[in-house]
Amino acid sequence: MKITRQKHAKKHLGFFRYNFGVREPYQLLLDGTFCQAALRGRIQLREQLPRYLMGETQLCTTRCVLKELESLGKELYGAKLIAQRCQVRSCSHFKDAVSGAECLLSMIEDGNPHHFFVATQDQNLSLQVKKKPGVPLLFIIQNTVVLDKPSPKTIAFVKATESGHLFSVHQKQNIKKLKEEQGLVKTSEPKKKRKRKGVSGPNPLSCLKKKKKVQDSNQSSAPEKKRRKRIRNRNRIKALSVPSVRQSEEVQSNSVH
Ligand SMILES: [Zn+2]
Repeated sequence: MKITRQKHAKKHLGFFRYNFGVREPYQLLLDGTFCQAALRGRIQLREQLPRYLMGETQLCTTRCVLKELESLGKELYGAKLIAQRCQVRSCSHFKDAVSGAECLLSMIEDGNPHHFFVATQDQNLSLQVKKKPGVPLLFIIQNTVVLDKPSPKTIAFVKATESGHLFSVHQKQNIKKLKEEQGLVKTSEPKKKRKRKGVSGPNPLSCLKKKKKVQDSNQSSAPEKKRRKRIRNRNRIKALSVPSVRQSEEVQSNSVH
């Protein structure tokens, strides 16, 4: 039994990996019902799940699931402790918490871009999850964790993508990469070059400034710093070489230039 269970899991995982880009570490979103079932079945999730899925796993949950478990009181205290040991993935219900089921559904919206697994015993939630293609579903039956086979919706979606009608998020990313690698997509380099040309536009402005100063100082296209130095040098040279000449003459010579 164990071997066939593992074989099925391997097959299903391969399907999700190949078609939807599911990768390790597998992100498992646990709800309260799954935690409760794990507690009752005395299932050591942290030990069993990586072994069963043959890869690194991350047990995750959301604030809404934790809040729901807190609100349900003593009966679910053990389940709450299990959930509290999970990593908390941020959901969009920052201000007002929603039910655990609603929250987990929101986490797998828009094609499940974070490749979450949903782990639940809630039949209604399971049905809703199965309606969204590409979401691996985990549940506990007879005290063992089972990865559900891909849902009919998921299989139909994959068939549609194979026939070219639809593209999953994962496939779109792959297509983008391939196009970039083969140079079919213009990368951002030429744009940058254009921008650089545009940036070099302000040069005429600096030319204008130069022209004005050229008229004043009678110098060719020398930058400002050099001009300043030259002026200083001139003054120094005049001061050193012709100490007897009056200041008024210096002023005149400067004005002539
Ligand atoms: Zn939430």
